[in-house]
Amino acid sequence: MIAVAIDGPAGAGKSTVARRAAKELGYVYVDTGAMYRAIGYTLKKQGVDLSDAAAVAAAVTGVDVTLRFEQDGQHVYCGDDDVTGFIRTPEISLAASAVSAVPAVRAHLLSLQQQMAKTNSVIMDGRDIGTVVLPNAQVKVFLTASSAVRARRRCLELEQKGTPQPYEEVLRDVEERDYQDAHRAVAPMKPAPDAVLLDTSGMDLDESVQALLGIIREKVGA
Ligand code: C5P
Repeated sequence: MIAVAIDGPAGAGKSTVARRAAKELGYVYVDTGAMYRAIGYTLKKQGVDLSDAAAVAAAVTGVDVTLRFEQDGQHVYCGDDDVTGFIRTPEISLAASAVSAVPAVRAHLLSLQQQMAKTNSVIMDGRDIGTVVLPNAQVKVFLTASSAVRARRRCLELEQKGTPQPYEEVLRDVEERDYQDAHRAVAPMKPAPDAVLLDTSGMDLDESVQALLGIIREKVGA
């Protein structure tokens, strides 16, 4: 099995780039952010105070997160509920970031993520894949772009979805999430010492995918 770990900040294009590269190589693409988002969404819906770490830790034990790979890609379930369609809002981004700082939440998802890499060749993306989840991955990439570029890309995405937001607000969200993710006590976002840095600020999507494939092929000859 080959494991490719991709970490990096919000909005760097990790998921799109990783999904395309996985398709090209015939690997399974695992979006771990969706799992944190699913927990953030579910606990918020249950009325749990997400700033109360003890309450989050108690509530997460009852949340059964699973990933299923359907024809149109990865779906994330909490129990029997497919929550895939509800987790990509700015509100749930911040909820995911809040719950992901709670150690019990990370422990809850860790074995599930590791299990997936045991049974499939994977490209897995997140914040701590190369450092914590798959420390023995054959390929580790820290995929990033400047916060201005990431905010601009996010604005475009939101506009295309019909839910536009002012650039200043999006930039503030991006920077707030970077700060939360990089400064939390458990599994903070940082490049693994053996990760290759891929800065996509000056690249379009195709160039980013080709750059990632180049790194993977060089490491594993795929
Ligand atoms: O990647 P995405 O933006 O969907 O992730 C949502 C949030 O989940 C991140 O801001 C981060 O706080 C958290 N996350 C994490 N560890 C991962 C993946 C995501 O803490 N491996």
